[in-house]
Amino acid sequence: MIESVTVLTDYHVHLRPDGPNTPFEAAFTDANVERYRQAADDAGIAELGVSEHIHRFQQALAVWEHSFWCEQATDDIDAYCEFVRDRTDLRLGLEVDFVPGREDRTQNLIERCDLDYVVGSVHFLGDFAVDWDRYDIWETGRNPEEIWRRYFETLAAAAQSGLFDILAHPDLVKMWGSGRPLPRGDPRRYYEPALEAIAESGIAVEVSTAGLRKPVGEIYPAPAFLAGALEAGAPVALSSDAHTPEQVGFGYDRARELLDSLGVSELATFERRTRRLEPLG
Ligand SMILES: [Zn+2]
Ligand SMILES: [Zn+2]
Repeated sequence: MIESVTVLTDYHVHLRPDGPNTPFEAAFTDANVERYRQAADDAGIAELGVSEHIHRFQQALAVWEHSFWCEQATDDIDAYCEFVRDRTDLRLGLEVDFVPGREDRTQNLIERCDLDYVVGSVHFLGDFAVDWDRYDIWETGRNPEEIWRRYFETLAAAAQSGLFDILAHPDLVKMWGSGRPLPRGDPRRYYEPALEAIAESGIAVEVSTAGLRKPVGEIYPAPAFLAGALEAGAPVALSSDAHTPEQVGFGYDRARELLDSLGVSELATFERRTRRLEPLG
């Protein structure tokens, strides 16, 4: 009898926490990787990968010179890739912002690395962030309808760009919950362009438990968005967006409930940018 292999993944993981005083040398060590690997083992997660923020790397300034990136871009992307490939058994990924108009430069940077997968994110609309109180878009006087519409249109363009394997935290715009103005009525009307782009592009959609740790207190994306993505044929990539070992596999019981409720029985896995679907373990 052939035993069926099942899998749990955590692909959107940062070895290096956000914030100051988190040097490259402290994050990319055998001991730190071991802490994450142990946490994954404890959570039953066999497929563990890392996806550091693109803005941490000097080479990212060839893509975008936002003042935040200029301040953050201190590391060498080749050293990161070499460390993960040569010193660990982790899958090698990157979390890459979608910067409209900079697709070619982004592609060049991605191709420099022999990645297992690329996690594509929308954090910024123009120079302003939807999920951060620095560069806060909610303080620019724009109304929530415009911000939500533009966020999902940009997410659609990210999916359509073909740059990414996984569409990260798909409704990140809700991150503040009631801490910022919300558009009135049913948010589903904003999802449409993104769901169409997901259908056309075939990109995998991330189910991220990170939202449970944020003011909104919900998984990304909302069940209605995920249902739409599944209807569009999207595979699911499950991740925690951990920035510490304690966050690896965080809230996976809640994620499993959501996936079960929508009949998801497979997860996307990635190796050298080839996707496979494996039974959800
Ligand atoms: Zn992100
Ligand atoms: Zn992240």
